[in-house]
Amino acid sequence: MDTKTGELLSEDVAGVNRILPHKHKYAWDLFLSSCANNWMPTEISMQEDINQWKNNEITDDEKLLVKRCLGFFAGSESLVGNNLLLSAFRFITDAECRQYILRQAFEESLHNLTIVYICDSLDLDIEEVFAAYETVPSIKAKDDFLMEITTDISRQDFKATTKEGKQEILRNLLTYYIVCEGTFFFSGFAMLLALGRQNKLQGVSDQIKYTLRDESSHIAFGTYLINTLIEQNPSIWTKTIQAEFVEHIKKAVDLEIAYAKDVLPTGILGLNADMFIDYMHYIGNRRLEAIGLDYRFPSDKNPFPWLGEVVDVQAMGNFFERRVREYQQGGALEEDF
Ligand code: MN
Ligand code: FE
Repeated sequence: MDTKTGELLSEDVAGVNRILPHKHKYAWDLFLSSCANNWMPTEISMQEDINQWKNNEITDDEKLLVKRCLGFFAGSESLVGNNLLLSAFRFITDAECRQYILRQAFEESLHNLTIVYICDSLDLDIEEVFAAYETVPSIKAKDDFLMEITTDISRQDFKATTKEGKQEILRNLLTYYIVCEGTFFFSGFAMLLALGRQNKLQGVSDQIKYTLRDESSHIAFGTYLINTLIEQNPSIWTKTIQAEFVEHIKKAVDLEIAYAKDVLPTGILGLNADMFIDYMHYIGNRRLEAIGLDYRFPSDKNPFPWLGEVVDVQAMGNFFERRVREYQQGGALEEDF
């Protein structure tokens, strides 16, 4: 095992992970800040959400939006979690990066819990929500695309340390961190947080805020991994792969816009599908810029500047401190359903 150079990949996938001395302090610090931001979906009260849902304070269009967003997250959070442990963790052998990946995997399990907890609380039709990745074409297209552009690097005969193997790992990281977590999650986040801004389904909205904060950390880590892998192996970042990835991001942005049109057929909550064209171009440009690619989408303005504010750590308050304060005030969380 390579304990000195900080190589991300080595042949020794099952050896001892030596963390110190630090070689990827960036990953280590992200790991520490993620631990400091620990949260549990089930500690967020859903009582008011349940009341609003049952008392018809939530329109049918809004209900559909919630179910579609959960449906997409249910499929893709599990794909991300599986890929992390079956593929990324297996081949990224650096100890600090592995430490972060383990933390990320735990957070993905919390995101799965969020979906289950919301479904249980609002008594949603589980079949309708969980089968969405098969039955709703714009959702299926997103999941299919992820699988179409990656090969199965968990297969037995896969070799991580050849040039081709490294390129496949790079593709895998680009697909899951940049396309899936970095692009496909964002219209859903904007839609669900727009509900919260209008004092609707605050419990759902709070859980999405914490999820979005986690995902921002995952994207930061993924971007670091990708850039570091390229820096360590410059020959894998060929013009062909760069051009291929730009095409993938373009397709991802198109699929995301189609999804937004599908979920918001008439425009609700001050949102309409056209805003998502701007938003996805804006997001796509940020992602491309972060990995040093020059292509830019034509529209570069963020129609949802409030999204940045809702995940501002300072504004949200530290979850743990707030929870302690709530307990001290006797304001116990009321999961009495
Ligand atoms: Mn997640
Ligand atoms: Fe994630």
